[in-house]
Amino acid sequence: MRYGGGFLSTQLCLLGGTGSIGASTLDLLRTHSDSIRLHSVSGHRQLSSLAAIANEFRPARIAVPDAPSVDQLTPLLQYRPDIVLGEAGLVELAQDPEVDRVMAAIMGAAGLPSTLAAAQAGKTIALANKEALVMSGDLLMQAVQAGGAMLLPVDSEHNAIFQSLPTGYRCGQSVAGLAQLWLTCSGGPFRNQPELDLSQITPEQACAHPNWSMGRKISVDSATLMNKGLELIEACYLFNVPARQVQVVVHPQSVIHSLVEYRDGSFISQLGQTDMRIPIAHTLAWPDRMASNTQALDLTQLQDLQFEPVDNERFASVELARQAAQAGQSACIVFNAVNECAVADFLAGQLPFDQITQWVDRGLQALASAPITEIQQAIACDVAAREWYFKESA
Ligand code: NDP
Ligand code: MG
Repeated sequence: MRYGGGFLSTQLCLLGGTGSIGASTLDLLRTHSDSIRLHSVSGHRQLSSLAAIANEFRPARIAVPDAPSVDQLTPLLQYRPDIVLGEAGLVELAQDPEVDRVMAAIMGAAGLPSTLAAAQAGKTIALANKEALVMSGDLLMQAVQAGGAMLLPVDSEHNAIFQSLPTGYRCGQSVAGLAQLWLTCSGGPFRNQPELDLSQITPEQACAHPNWSMGRKISVDSATLMNKGLELIEACYLFNVPARQVQVVVHPQSVIHSLVEYRDGSFISQLGQTDMRIPIAHTLAWPDRMASNTQALDLTQLQDLQFEPVDNERFASVELARQAAQAGQSACIVFNAVNECAVADFLAGQLPFDQITQWVDRGLQALASAPITEIQQAIACDVAAREWYFKESA
């Protein structure tokens, strides 16, 4: 990779190219084709979208789940790239010696092995896949250190914190002079509606996020504040802080994307539009900067920036996450897995909204902690938590 005078020459591996983070990344690549080349891309079910991406950007390598996907994809392609399969294929793309930067944007546990592989291979990793940290933060941070990788958080809050840390900071190091980290939280669609009966909320209401446009699962997580809980756990691993040093504050305008409070009373933050292309552009260009095709924030239009405490009585998620982070890796896995199952049931109309966090609480109490020293143990713990949920909720 070459830097200097704003010029970059990056070979990018985009894992999860057909998703929402993938689309924002590709949008940036369209206007930065002179400096960032799409070396490889992966997709899973949306094979016609994957073909369209491939025909436009001409990556040398493509990953698909299996052989039938190759048969489906190949006739749609206007050139002959190298196509690799399954988890091993994703790992191969992430470790390719020609790749210097990896965007890890696969959803869920499926993204773990390739993210870990990129870390072991010492790549610069733009990390969107939060589950990689929540389920295997210890392992991932060890791999980052051992492989000499550079981790750049894409999640907007963590990206804001990273940008507010001293130049030269690397994720996993402790932060000199830190008092605490502040994650900002929009409060979700049900903030300030104490009269609302949470048991009656429909998936459509829960998915109507006030500030960000996102997928259904993450929108429900925002409404329950489980997303903020997951982000608290993410922050502990990324910035090497105990859970007691991570605070959450409701900031309905979502202009300040998070803050770092230093020991001397200084608060440093990053402000911007609610558009994922901003943190993505930061991670693609770092340590340089590049245009993100977004509208600049008009400071004169910011009428008033509000901050409120989280209503922990109605939304227990943040404190449950704190408990999980304090208990260790396997509790974090349980937190994530039971939440995913409960959200799926809620979206299918089979579980009341207010019971999502109740199930996570029950799961944390019922399932004993287990040592997680390798990826297979993390996956086994995840599977056990899901089996527990299905058995208990049947
Ligand atoms: P999407 O669901 O839009 O995209 C997920 C991507 O992963 C798609 O490319 C999908 O392929 C692929 N994928 C899904 N399942 C598998 C699998 N089993 N094996 C391989 N690939 C798979 O998710 P988002 O882009 O919204 O999010 C990606 C990650 O970033 C998540 O971890 C999320 O929490 C995190 N994130 C997202 C934010 C956002 O604003 N969207 C903000 C902060 C973090 P296909 O579509 O072809 O099936
Ligand atoms: Mg976020």
